[in-house]
Amino acid sequence: MFSVTACKDFSNKVLGKGELKDTLTEKLVVKEKIPHLLNRWDSLQKNQIQFTVDSLHPVPIKQQKRELKDSLRKAFDTYPKHIYLTFDDGPLIGSAFIDSIAKEKNIKVSVFLIGKHANMSKGRKRDLARYESNPLIACYNHSYTHANNQYSRFYNNPQNAFADFEKNEKDLNLKHKIVRLPGRNIWIYDDVRKIDLKNGSSTADLLHKNGYTIYGWDVEWRLNSITGAPIQSQESTLSHIRNYMNNKSSMVPNNVVFLMHDDMFQTQKGQQELSSLIDALKKDGYQFEFMQDYPIKY
Ligand SMILES: [Zn+2]
Repeated sequence: MFSVTACKDFSNKVLGKGELKDTLTEKLVVKEKIPHLLNRWDSLQKNQIQFTVDSLHPVPIKQQKRELKDSLRKAFDTYPKHIYLTFDDGPLIGSAFIDSIAKEKNIKVSVFLIGKHANMSKGRKRDLARYESNPLIACYNHSYTHANNQYSRFYNNPQNAFADFEKNEKDLNLKHKIVRLPGRNIWIYDDVRKIDLKNGSSTADLLHKNGYTIYGWDVEWRLNSITGAPIQSQESTLSHIRNYMNNKSSMVPNNVVFLMHDDMFQTQKGQQELSSLIDALKKDGYQFEFMQDYPIKY
């Protein structure tokens, strides 16, 4: 049992009056907070809710389901919506811009890093140092070699793949055990396990068994890295994100994980695209979050 009185010897000078008790209470409350909406939503998705047809007011089950889904959607809409800007494969040319735009727009940004890229040149080392010293940027693990872009071969040897992530964690001194697999959209966290390509699942399971959380993405945006020209237009990417938020079709309702790559932002054109996209997301009222806080449940 936890006892608040055990802490009474700490002086208020160190902790601030009532601060310790309040922080602990807050933590307990957050930990015990039950995500009622999400639980109900998940049960509906998994067909675990029993519907019955009342003979006096016969409403078809299909319609009852639709109505419940709509009412849950509306209930989710009364809560904040969270966007996770994630940038993969850095440090690369383009990383310096991501570092500066996070500050300029005052938004949280998540980067999934490749150790091999950090060791390529002084410039990339400098980019890494920028990321590390920016409190608005959280650094995570995307493997040391990025599978040398030979994904099947990489994942056919889960032990070696696992060692590659460990090397990256050590080399880059990463503080969070959060990874994204190169070339795979795989999620393993809490009681969720979603695999896109089976080859890759053994590596993901091995990582998870060793305390790592694996995150994929909901929406991806691509630009031509040489010209900065969008491969998917900004409007279509924005509407993709808005649809996910409004229809609750992302992995977790009200949370959208958005994937981009550092090298997309090496040209002025690409940089302007990102800047205006962030402005649009802000205008929509979305809150920018770190992946370590994913998912925010209601
Ligand atoms: Zn990658």
